[in-house]
Amino acid sequence: MALRKLSSAGRFGTRYGRRIKQRIIAVEKIQKSKQKCPFCNKLSVKRISSGIWYCKACDSKFAAKAYDPIIKAEAKVEETSEEKSTEEEEK
Ligand SMILES: [Zn+2]
Repeated sequence: MALRKLSSAGRFGTRYGRRIKQRIIAVEKIQKSKQKCPFCNKLSVKRISSGIWYCKACDSKFAAKAYDPIIKAEAKVEETSEEKSTEEEEK
């Protein structure tokens, strides 16, 4: 019980089950803490709403993922699309 009170999912008490609360903890950890800005690299990015992030330091508002502003996934998508295009060339 004491451990549950420490986390953000503690507000649900004994309801909704353990696994779903663990997922909420993982999401809210990123959502509620300040994140690194992709423009100025300062830890001052806050989530305004789903997918919208705001950096206090350089006053920039930008779109990213719904629950975290790190746009690492985009680089991965580019890599896979390049792979696909080479596959098409082989055909
Ligand atoms: Zn910034």
